[in-house]
Amino acid sequence: MTEKAEKYKLHRGLYDLLKGITQPGMMKMMADWLGAVFSAVDEGKPILFNQFTVFSELMVALDIVPLPPELWQSSQLNVDANACCESIDAAEEAGIHPELCSANKAIIGDIMLDKIPPPSMVVLPTFPCDNSKITYQAVAHLTGAPTYFLDCPYWMDEGEAMDYWVNQYKGLISFLEKHSEKKLDYDRLKEVAEESNRCLDYWLEGLELLKLKPLPLNGPFASGYLAGLTALGTPAATEAVKASLDELRSRVDKGETAVPEEKTRVIWFYYPVFWDAGLGDWMAQMGAVTASGLVGYFNVEPIDTSTPESTIRGLARRALDTPMGRQGRGASDLWIDDCLRAVEEWKGDCVILAGHPGCKWLMGCYGLFRDIARERGIPVLLWDVDLFDPRPCSGEESRARIEPFLNTIMAR
Ligand code: SF4
Repeated sequence: MTEKAEKYKLHRGLYDLLKGITQPGMMKMMADWLGAVFSAVDEGKPILFNQFTVFSELMVALDIVPLPPELWQSSQLNVDANACCESIDAAEEAGIHPELCSANKAIIGDIMLDKIPPPSMVVLPTFPCDNSKITYQAVAHLTGAPTYFLDCPYWMDEGEAMDYWVNQYKGLISFLEKHSEKKLDYDRLKEVAEESNRCLDYWLEGLELLKLKPLPLNGPFASGYLAGLTALGTPAATEAVKASLDELRSRVDKGETAVPEEKTRVIWFYYPVFWDAGLGDWMAQMGAVTASGLVGYFNVEPIDTSTPESTIRGLARRALDTPMGRQGRGASDLWIDDCLRAVEEWKGDCVILAGHPGCKWLMGCYGLFRDIARERGIPVLLWDVDLFDPRPCSGEESRARIEPFLNTIMAR
């Protein structure tokens, strides 16, 4: 085996598993993304680390390969639940404080252990958390990659704040042009933004269909988010999200439902427990379906592509509404109001919140939310589980917490 093939073995194995898929959809989209990353690695092309709230349109327009490191982490957990542990431990042993979010420790450890392709550029906004901000500084320090922070105002309710944010986006374009040595073609950007509009229309329609009761398919409807991080603005991403939507539409037309008897609807307003892929199915077997989750909560206007200025403004506006980006860029009210809206619009009977220990800002929101939910009679389960590391709370322990909660809700 060559040295190249030895590197990133787990992800190359995942790619080998998926690359034969020809049907458009989530799996093919994942294979296409991994394939593009490995081509870039093998051919020495630039790779851009886009933090998990940065969508891909500008990269597509400039033909730069996006590699969201959090997706690199979570995708391998489908193959091996313990896949992040070695890198988490390596980061801690090197002196990274253990309280840092495990996703972030895994990214730093991956760089140290050469388990992720090194970036040529790094881009992130100043949201949603301090963990992310300090982690990408460490990434820049370890790799020497030039890094661009999109500085987001705390309050976006004034025109000047939006103008400031749009200027941050213009600065990002200059940064990408400089470090990729490419010039952005605004006709190409218009095409990409229009393709992105088409794709996100399909995503939004899928989210609407999950408001049906009984639920046609267990949610959340996440294909748009995967597209956003890897290929949004390409016809292939649009086709993939449309394929997920077509499946959903067909189930609705045939009257098919997620479970034979829907006993309760869960709002899971956070990321899934990435290493515990069977958890949603296990809940569904009890009759508990997930109608909405943070990765399937998105609401945005189309980008006006009439001028380059309006296109950039539309992209900047959209960047404020990505999952977790939307909720994590200011007061706790942003997350709380969206979660309450999800309960109302997706007709949730209860809310389940994974208490990921590194996510301190969100744990603070949870506490505030619990008081509001109590006043409104919304049952909430919050338990401690690490989304990237199965060691603090096992799958059995999670089920032991969730089962009695769901039984209580379903007995009401
Ligand atoms: S899980 Fe929370 S702390 Fe970790 S990167 Fe995401 S927002 Fe930041």
